[in-house]
Amino acid sequence: MSDQDRTVIRIEGVSKRFGPVTAVDSIDLDLRENEFFALLGPSGCGKTTLLRMIAGFADPSEGRILLDGQDMTPIRPNRRPINLMFQSYALFPHMTVAKNIAYGLEMENLDKADLNRRVDEILEKTELSAMRNRKPDRLSGGQRQRVALARALVKKPRVLLLDEPLGALDKKLREQMQLELKRMQHEFSITFVIVTHDQEEALVMADRIAVLKDGRVAQIGAPRDLYENPADRFVAGFIGKMNFFPGTVAGTGVSFAGQSVLTGDIPTGLSGEAVAAVRPERIKLSVEQPAGDMNAMPGTISEVAYHGQDVNLHVTVDGCDDPVLVRVPATDADETVWHHGGKVWCSWNPAHTRILAA
Ligand code: ATP
Repeated sequence: MSDQDRTVIRIEGVSKRFGPVTAVDSIDLDLRENEFFALLGPSGCGKTTLLRMIAGFADPSEGRILLDGQDMTPIRPNRRPINLMFQSYALFPHMTVAKNIAYGLEMENLDKADLNRRVDEILEKTELSAMRNRKPDRLSGGQRQRVALARALVKKPRVLLLDEPLGALDKKLREQMQLELKRMQHEFSITFVIVTHDQEEALVMADRIAVLKDGRVAQIGAPRDLYENPADRFVAGFIGKMNFFPGTVAGTGVSFAGQSVLTGDIPTGLSGEAVAAVRPERIKLSVEQPAGDMNAMPGTISEVAYHGQDVNLHVTVDGCDDPVLVRVPATDADETVWHHGGKVWCSWNPAHTRILAA
């Protein structure tokens, strides 16, 4: 068993109720040693509540949270080898960077030499040595974030919990910090658990993602698994964009309004109403009807949105309530045809169709 497969935290049948509201509903989850794990879901799905229970700031209404097999219920937050980094960073404005970080070690009663050594070590690892004597108001947003991270990591926790850590940063800095957090997680070889509602952020950073909906786990998996094989329509629509064709299972496809979407294989046991789904980047556009065993639908371009790298097109197809979304690399875009009102065929390989329960 590799380090990454070993369970560090086990969440066993955990629920949390606030009066009539069930914020977390019977969640089972294993967090592994040295992995970057993301709790992803829309606002109000229970992400923060679950994180707070792992940290010990809230008790489960039901179920247990185990660390290395030991029930953590009686253990106070500051006695758990788990740190929570707040979105606001909570740095002390009157203290220097080094003092802010040293504060994290106050509980440990270290002698001065040991304390300085630990602080120096973390300053170096987080590339903050040159800023050790600055106060937070003389740091950029990204640097402040790194100080907060350093203060959490200096305690050498087994698990670092991060609640929307990049929420306050602008898009460019956020993308830079995503890679930096990932690098830190590798460097420190501990488990990071991040809460985010940003699917792109989760895809970029996490080794595994749990998608939450209404306090429950909708699906757990590696980013690619979730993207390529979403368990249901919610996950498919939450992680990236997806075209849905609701209809009825017939033969090796789903038929609707006199058309049929073919698939590679139909999941066993699925019959009756179902939804065929395809990612926008799997669809090709052509002027002529494509040859071969492809899914092919004729339509009219109703919208073109240029995104620099890609072009997103909406194609109105007879029998479909929503336009079909197609994403093509800008370098492949044929502007002579791909404009508002242009007549095109949308086609894709049946193997790229996913069939989901209705
Ligand atoms: P967001 O992304 O908006 O922070 P979230 O997924 O983190 O959302 P939670 O903050 O965990 O969601 O909240 C889950 C549900 O529990 C929500 O309906 C919320 O209103 C409710 N809730 C959370 N904390 C409390 C509380 N202390 N008292 C009452 N209800 C609460």
